[in-house]
Amino acid sequence: MTREEILQQLRSQVKASRYKHCLGVEKAARELAVRFGYENPEVAALAGLLHDYAKEQPQAEYLRLIDMYGLDEALKDWGNNVLHGLVGWLKIKEDFPFIAQEHPEILQAIKTHTVGSSTMSMLDKIVYVADYIEENRTFEGVDEARKIAQRSLDAAVAFETVRTVEFLAKKRVPIYPQTIETYNAYVNALT
Ligand code: GDP
Ligand code: FE
Ligand code: FE
Ligand code: FE
Repeated sequence: MTREEILQQLRSQVKASRYKHCLGVEKAARELAVRFGYENPEVAALAGLLHDYAKEQPQAEYLRLIDMYGLDEALKDWGNNVLHGLVGWLKIKEDFPFIAQEHPEILQAIKTHTVGSSTMSMLDKIVYVADYIEENRTFEGVDEARKIAQRSLDAAVAFETVRTVEFLAKKRVPIYPQTIETYNAYVNALT
C-alpha cells in the first residue's frame, strides 16, 4: 500500500479531528524514535498514524472481533475507550495485511496504546507517549509531559499513567486492570 492509500483508508474511518490527531501522533512518534534511538523511526511513525484507526467502530464490531479471534469474553464489558486498542488492533490487522507480515510489532504497540502494560517494548512506549504529547493536544499538564519526554521515555510513560489514573478516578469511571499494572510497573520511573 502507498502512503496515499493508507491515508485515504484512515480518513474513511475517522472524523476530521481524529485524522488530524493521527497525523500529530505520526510525527511525535517519529521524533521520539529518533530522540531515543529506536531502530526504525518510520515503523514508529506508521504505528502512530494508525493507532486510533479503530476508535470509531460500533460496539458490535468489537464484539465481532472478540468472538472471531476468541479473545477474553470479559472484554465485552468495556467500551470503545478501552477496546479500540485492545481489540481494534485486529481490525487493523484485517484491513492492512502488509503490517502483520512486515511489522507485527506495530500491532502490538497499537494494542497497548491506551492501557499500556508492565512489559512495554520501546515501540510500545513511543506510541503510548506520542499519543499523549502530540502537537494538537492542549490539556492541562501536556507541557510538563512534553518536557519529561525530552529526557526519559520511561518517566514520560510514568507521568502519563499517573495522570490518567488520577483523571479516571476523579471521574469515578472503572479502570481497566492492565492500566493499574502499567501504573505499578512504571510509577517509580517518575523521578
Ligand atoms: P485517544 O484514543 O487518542 O483519545 O487516547 P487513548 O487511546 O490513550 O485513551 C482513550 C480514552 O480512554 C481516554 O479518555 C483515556 O482517559 C481513557 N482510558 C485510558 N485508560 C483507561 C482505563 O483503564 N479505563 C477507562 N475506563 N478508560 C481509560
Ligand atoms: Fe487511542
Ligand atoms: Fe494514550
Ligand atoms: Fe490517540
